Amino acid sequence: MIGTLDAKIPHGSLDQKWRSHRDHSRLVSPGNRRKFEIIVVGSGLAGGSAAATLGELGYRVKCFCFQDSPRRAHSIAAQGGINAAKNYQNDGDSIYRLFYDTIKGGDFRAREANVYRLAEVANLIIDQCVEQGVPFAREYGGLLSNRSFGGAQVSRTFYARGQTGQQLLLGCYQALCRQIAAETVRMFPQTEMLDLVIVDGHAKGIITRNLRSGQIDKHAGDAVVLATGGYGNVFYLSTNARGCNVTATYRAYKRGALFANPSFTQIHPTCIPVSGEHQSKLTLMSESLRNDGRVWVPKRKEDREKLPNEIPETDRDYYLERKYPSYGNLAPRDISSRAAKEVCDEGRGVGPSGRGVYLDFADAIKRLGEDTIRERYGNLFEVYEKITGESAYKVPMRIYPAVHYTMGGLWVDYDLMSNVPGLFVIGEANFSDHGANRLGASALMQGLADGYFILPSTLPNYLAGQMGKRPSPDSPEFQGAEKDVRARIEKLLKISGTRSLDSFHRELGLLLWDKCGMSRHEKGLRDALRKIPELREQFWHDVRVPGNDEDFNQSLERAGRVADFLEFAELMCTDALERDESCGAHFREEHQTSDGEALRDDENHAAVFAWEFQGDPAAAGPKLHREPLHFETVHLTQRSYK
Ligand SMILES: Cc1cc2nc3c(=O)[nH]c(=O)nc-3n(C[C@H](O)[C@H](O)[C@H](O)COP(=O)(O)OP(=O)(O)OC[C@H]3O[C@@H](n4cnc5c(N)ncnc54)[C@H](O)[C@@H]3O)c2cc1C
Repeated sequence: MIGTLDAKIPHGSLDQKWRSHRDHSRLVSPGNRRKFEIIVVGSGLAGGSAAATLGELGYRVKCFCFQDSPRRAHSIAAQGGINAAKNYQNDGDSIYRLFYDTIKGGDFRAREANVYRLAEVANLIIDQCVEQGVPFAREYGGLLSNRSFGGAQVSRTFYARGQTGQQLLLGCYQALCRQIAAETVRMFPQTEMLDLVIVDGHAKGIITRNLRSGQIDKHAGDAVVLATGGYGNVFYLSTNARGCNVTATYRAYKRGALFANPSFTQIHPTCIPVSGEHQSKLTLMSESLRNDGRVWVPKRKEDREKLPNEIPETDRDYYLERKYPSYGNLAPRDISSRAAKEVCDEGRGVGPSGRGVYLDFADAIKRLGEDTIRERYGNLFEVYEKITGESAYKVPMRIYPAVHYTMGGLWVDYDLMSNVPGLFVIGEANFSDHGANRLGASALMQGLADGYFILPSTLPNYLAGQMGKRPSPDSPEFQGAEKDVRARIEKLLKISGTRSLDSFHRELGLLLWDKCGMSRHEKGLRDALRKIPELREQFWHDVRVPGNDEDFNQSLERAGRVADFLEFAELMCTDALERDESCGAHFREEHQTSDGEALRDDENHAAVFAWEFQGDPAAAGPKLHREPLHFETVHLTQRSYK
């Protein structure tokens, strides 16, 4: 194994750790920064903010993304908002409370020190974004407005209608463009990282493919930052942008980086239900809607085909309000998703497939008026109407859980460095802060905390010892990695089989959803672990990848990504099987309380599971490393939102 599994949590009290760590970390002087070349893969909110900030500090940055512009990163899709404990509402919020809600929301499977730092840094993000001109919603008096998100009893979510990600990304993109103009950042759009290069045990470069021309290039750097987002698309159907994939992090895993908690997947409760087999994408209806929408199904199965307005109040089951009176419709995502599945499994689900529940705004419209609801959620209602043909001002929305976010990712220490020295991982691509379930509006907070504030302070700690150590891209390690990349592309193109990429991807996705989705059990996971290698085998013999490698070829791009998903899925199921407890979104049916809630096993599983690649999965399974989680401040309890 490369490196050791030491989280390097600083000593001292929780609220002093970050400050004292920065006080004692090594620095790189302004005059020396331009001597370092930093490779940032990804230009979403995490990568874009990191590249812009490092450029502003004077480093030379090369930034890569596979889209035609950084503005098209998946971050742009984020709707509902970003958390910070400014306590503008004076409703009792504090940094500690944001920290505690996040740790509890993640079902006590995240590191205290990281999460506390995140809660501290969140306030700085809001200030920075306001300075950039991000048009957050404001109150009448000019103060920034807040709304509530799941798993919190305060209102701490800053938002820009239902387009928060877009507005934050435009702010970040402006900052990035400034650095591109200043020539501190060189942007490589439509360029995909296909391998990581390790020299003397350190991450010192990447191999890329230009997606327009097919050209393969070698890039050497002093450090590599992966900000490549999440891998929810392993399930085929998800709310993620179609391009989201696991390739960058999976290739880094195959070069020695540990993959942590790969099975921790967030299923979001409020998405437009699947409508048929033709679909390649699912659409999120933001969690913010649960501020005013009430979730219900008919009390009796027999009523499920009636129109909603034909079902009187007395025959409706507002099941979240009934089961979780203190949080009601704002119960966290894992809990709300499972509750929706449960009522649908009982045969009370609505809509043609029976896999839907109502999200009803009638009471809110009566109380606040249609204009207020339009002002708060107008664009989401429009999206809903475009897709379903129904106006949610008149009839309740129909929603169902869908894959949305991945808490798992490459393992990182407190400095956000993986176990491979010089390889940093930020944003959704790392595993760090959300434990077994992410609370709403916390991903944008984490991505921007990592990129604007944390990485720029921790990267010098590594770089200070690396002056003059950047290898030549002509060194044998680069040549070897390039050869591997070319061989793999050639192999994919040579198969010339009969089955489409989509058919493999869809089959894998359905299998995972069934066996490693909202709930899992040992038998199902073992079944999946048997079937995935068979499917992979078929893929490498029978997939059809048209075109060639010297041109724009989206089939080839996707083939590489699906091939990685076919290996990665096995790692997910192995992780889900090994974690013989329920926690957060990881619901093992064997481990539940008498009322069907997740039952943790703190004695044996209060740990991060970090997996090491050991070669071909058929020959040797991955090796597990455990990082025990120590809780000094919070008391581990059975999570309750009742
Ligand atoms: C519909 C939707 C709504 C959401 N709403 C919210 C919300 O309201 N609040 C919230 O907190 N979170 C929300 N989230 C989650 C949040 O949007 C994401 O977690 C976050 O934006 C991820 O940011 P990122 O920078 O880590 O990754 P991304 O934005 O996914 O960026 C990844 C970058 O990496 C690049 N990349 C990837 N692989 C490669 C490769 N191999 N080579 C080169 N480049 C590569 C891509 O081109 C891209 O630039 C939402 C998610 C979805 C799906």
